[in-house]
Amino acid sequence: PVAAAPAPAGVLPLRPELAGDVPYGAPQLDVPVLLNVNENPYPPSEAVVADVAAAVAGAARGLNRYPDREFLGLRGDLADYLAVESGVRVAPEQVWAANGSNEVMLHVLQAFGGPGRTALSFAPTYSMYPEYARDTHTRWVAGRRTDSFDVDPAQARALIAREAPSVVLLTSPNNPTGTALDLSTVREVLDAAAQVPGGCVVVVDEAYAEFRREGVESALTLLADHPHLAVSRTMSKAFGLAGARVGYLAASRDLVDALRVVRLPYHLSAVTQAVARAALAHAPELMAQVGSLRDERDQLVLDLRDRGIRVAESDANFVLFQVGEGRHEIWQGLLHRGVLIREVGPEGWLRVSVGTPEETAAFTAALWEVLGI
Ligand code: PMP
Repeated sequence: PVAAAPAPAGVLPLRPELAGDVPYGAPQLDVPVLLNVNENPYPPSEAVVADVAAAVAGAARGLNRYPDREFLGLRGDLADYLAVESGVRVAPEQVWAANGSNEVMLHVLQAFGGPGRTALSFAPTYSMYPEYARDTHTRWVAGRRTDSFDVDPAQARALIAREAPSVVLLTSPNNPTGTALDLSTVREVLDAAAQVPGGCVVVVDEAYAEFRREGVESALTLLADHPHLAVSRTMSKAFGLAGARVGYLAASRDLVDALRVVRLPYHLSAVTQAVARAALAHAPELMAQVGSLRDERDQLVLDLRDRGIRVAESDANFVLFQVGEGRHEIWQGLLHRGVLIREVGPEGWLRVSVGTPEETAAFTAALWEVLGI
């Protein structure tokens, strides 16, 4: 191999705002129990694997051609899924998809953010948002969530009026706290956004929506009256398809049409489209599995509370819990026992994804040991 010469200062014209930045990402370690990135612990069933493989073979026969740029087949399947999942029917043209909801969100910022514009969210929340803002030269403003990790409607209204953002990102259920927002709060934010001169798009990031508890409503129910609302979802969590990279959103046609302008040509490969459609055909069986993950989550919350640990209410497939001083050592102690969780969120808290019952048992056993409780 040719020795790579280090680039002397000034040779690479790196954008100054990137100086010192490192690539985002949780550690990818080879550990027996992986509970750090909110994946679905269950691999696709053999029936799903067989259908995905057949679909990929079908797509492979046409790989000399570029894929369907508009992918209305997949967008229609996603619309059908949303209708069953949340009772809200949208047209295929109101759905957009990309390589993970990360890319969907980047499209939103590319279309509606930009130099001289502001994107706003409420921390603690998903740590990728400031990166989408940085990468699209959009100013980033983070309001605060309350002590119970909720968004205070009056404070949100005041912040939106003051900062006049062109994009507001609301995460519900929120990562890393698990908190679902009341729809009345989302409505207030939509009202405040509608009063921003020049307009403001509100994205409700529902990456974890399928894990919400009984009675918690999706913001999809607000789409009909709000052309500036987008509700984003992903196949990475409930569908157990993180490796396929498929995220999507539902919104008004005009909003989706703006995203079509900024996407790269053929951004969603024929293989990705085929895999997603094959998995969507198995939605009912995958959703049954989501039910057991929800039960597992609720039990984990109870078990932690039984030992006197403070736990945030969760409508997601993970749980944020408070350990106080020395969280890094506790995280390290768990890792030492073969359990990888995530050191994220407010100081003194840790986040653990819901695994299989065996994985969750391994986690709690390790935690009691580390904490000496
Ligand atoms: N939104 C939230 C709140 C998330 O937690 C994640 C994944 N951790 C994403 C979006 C992105 O997921 P993906 O790109 O896999 O769809």
